[in-house]
Amino acid sequence: MAAVLDRDGLLRRLRGDGVPRPVIDPGLAGGLRDWLEDGLVESVAALAAGTDVVRVNKESLNQVLLCEAHLVAGRSAPRVGTVELARGSMVDALFRQWVTTGVIDDPWADALAAFEADGDRDGVISFVSELPAAHQRRLRAEVGEHAAHITQRWPVPSPAWLPRTQERLEVPLCGGRVVLAGVIDLVLGSPAQDRASVCLVELKSGARRIEHRPDLHFYALLEALRSGAPPFRIATYYSGTGELDAEPVGEDTLVGALSRALDGAIRLCRVSAGVEPERHPNHLCAWCVGLPGCPPGQQRAGTDVPLVSAGRAETDPGPA
Ligand code: SF4
Repeated sequence: MAAVLDRDGLLRRLRGDGVPRPVIDPGLAGGLRDWLEDGLVESVAALAAGTDVVRVNKESLNQVLLCEAHLVAGRSAPRVGTVELARGSMVDALFRQWVTTGVIDDPWADALAAFEADGDRDGVISFVSELPAAHQRRLRAEVGEHAAHITQRWPVPSPAWLPRTQERLEVPLCGGRVVLAGVIDLVLGSPAQDRASVCLVELKSGARRIEHRPDLHFYALLEALRSGAPPFRIATYYSGTGELDAEPVGEDTLVGALSRALDGAIRLCRVSAGVEPERHPNHLCAWCVGLPGCPPGQQRAGTDVPLVSAGRAETDPGPA
């Protein structure tokens, strides 16, 4: 259950005070890897020579498990900036700055300076500069509130905890033809020896959602595969409210994450192999970029969005 915590309380939850850290099973990571590679053998064999590496990250997993056709439609659609994405990127940059330096002077200016220094992959600087003045003022105020929550409630981690921000995890499978990948906002703790010793933290600037838990579980799986030891704790911090969802990582967490990642990776391989993507109408059809060419999605969304040319998608409703 989420709680709004002060600095000490937050630290206690992250450290899992009172909960013994699990002893590492030296065979666990190898067993998980074998399970994944065995499950992917047929899917990888169906990929043509020269097919791009199949990358399995939290976004591609969430999309392909929701609906394969949604993933395919999203890949060909132009990336659209939104206020929520800009806010998330800015708050992420400020969080990184806080945990590494312990200083945030001017949240708006500091976030923009971070993009200038580190690269602005998502075009946040131009997006916010083109916002109408009233929208920009509102966003500036929101970013300031999130920054205030972070500085008031987050301890600046001691160097002894080896804090790492934006930690990239990559796990090649099946000779590198499939790569499980993720970028974790904050990793705390030294590499494990006998007992699990790492805590993973994801920062969210949006509303608390149940879907965030599978993302964290996927990261726990990545860490276990990469380092040979699972994290002892995983947590999502909501900068808008100060809530922290934290949980220990048991074998059941890893097995559940593996099963989900394997299902998604098989589907991603199917898509890469050129198999017609399955359609699974769902609660998000109304917002799907593929909706105009998707009769079952329109039926689900209850819309009369006109059909547009979409190849087989226009005439083949696929499995509903
Ligand atoms: S509209 Fe719905 S069913 Fe159609 S592609 Fe999008 S998510 Fe899938």
